[in-house]
Amino acid sequence: MTVKVGYRRPLPVLASDRSHWAERALCRGYDPELFFPHASALADLAKSVCARCPVRRQCADYALTTGQEFGVWGGMSEEERRREIRVRNRAAALKAVAT
Ligand code: SF4
Repeated sequence: MTVKVGYRRPLPVLASDRSHWAERALCRGYDPELFFPHASALADLAKSVCARCPVRRQCADYALTTGQEFGVWGGMSEEERRREIRVRNRAAALKAVAT
């Protein structure tokens, strides 16, 4: 299934910063709706794009640190990001108690 239709997903990039990771985002040029899916099958399709993306790690870090609530970012669904944040918060709390 090809969904590349020429739309550009709004990604965090300054107009003057051509070295920003978002400039290399594979989802640029794909229909943004693919990355804000209403069905899990579409989420899987978005994740398949992310799986080939050269800036997946940067994208995931951005989404996690800025609290992106909706859509697929860095190959993670909304629920997967919430789970990852819970894991990170738990690890940070345990580290704080241990010190
Ligand atoms: S990891 Fe996915 S959402 Fe993030 S920039 Fe790459 S293709 Fe886009």
